[in-house]
Amino acid sequence: MSPYKMSGTTVVSFSGGRTSAFMLRQVLDNNADLSDLIVTFANTGKEHPATLDFVQECSVRWGVPIVWLEFRDDERGFAIVDYETACRDGEPFEALIRKRSYLPNPVTRFCTIDLKIRVIHKYLRMVGCSTEETPVDMMTGIRADEPRRVAKIRHRKTTSESKHATMVMPLADAGVGVQDVTEFWKAEPFDLMLPTINGRTLEGNCDLCFLKGANQIYSIIASDRGEPVRKAEWWARMERTAVASSGITGNGALFRFDRPSYQQMLDYSDTQFDMFADHDEAIACFCGD
Ligand code: SF4
Repeated sequence: MSPYKMSGTTVVSFSGGRTSAFMLRQVLDNNADLSDLIVTFANTGKEHPATLDFVQECSVRWGVPIVWLEFRDDERGFAIVDYETACRDGEPFEALIRKRSYLPNPVTRFCTIDLKIRVIHKYLRMVGCSTEETPVDMMTGIRADEPRRVAKIRHRKTTSESKHATMVMPLADAGVGVQDVTEFWKAEPFDLMLPTINGRTLEGNCDLCFLKGANQIYSIIASDRGEPVRKAEWWARMERTAVASSGITGNGALFRFDRPSYQQMLDYSDTQFDMFADHDEAIACFCGD
């Protein structure tokens, strides 16, 4: 049986990336009855505008409803938004940092959990899915050429948030690799239009996610020199906010302790240009691509 075939209520957690969209397309093509399909997109507010455009374009071109969700620090814990009303200045992410009074970091990635996974589960519970009585399959866009991520999910079997959703990885099961995804998008009449720097797409997921390599971050920061609002200003402001709200001083409130603060990187970028030559490794982000 096709790994994309649904058996009961199935949630496609659409990250807004090419791989995730490829998976969605396969699900649409391999199921005659889509009444049990729920597609969600959890917006952190720090996605690149091109990602939001892409999510909307997939929805419109493919005729599939996508539920746009955002974290809220209120009783319900989330809001349902749409392409027009989605936050574009990091507001959901900032609300989470204020609530927690500290910053996520590579070891404690609560942003992925609270801004995405929990928000989706809360929505599913609201609509009567993802309960003990009505468990769901949660399809996630992890490819066969991402063996560490595949192994981690297989080991875990269920999501960290709930025993009521089973993580399934149809791309991994179908043996899909990045080349398959690239070929697919070459043949499509539209694509994710993230900017490239030195031929590489750097800004997927949150624009300056702390899991990206330092040189990658520098390159993005340098590339928007001269813009009225620079992406790094938000990240630098969050580091200052965390210091203010936690009372921690000095370097005690940074997204990462093993490299300069975002403000320092902003300052460096005013004097240094292409720092991407070393190609340092980014940590794989579970927010997907
Ligand atoms: S992309 Fe990075 S910063 Fe954004 S939610 Fe995921 S881990 Fe956190």
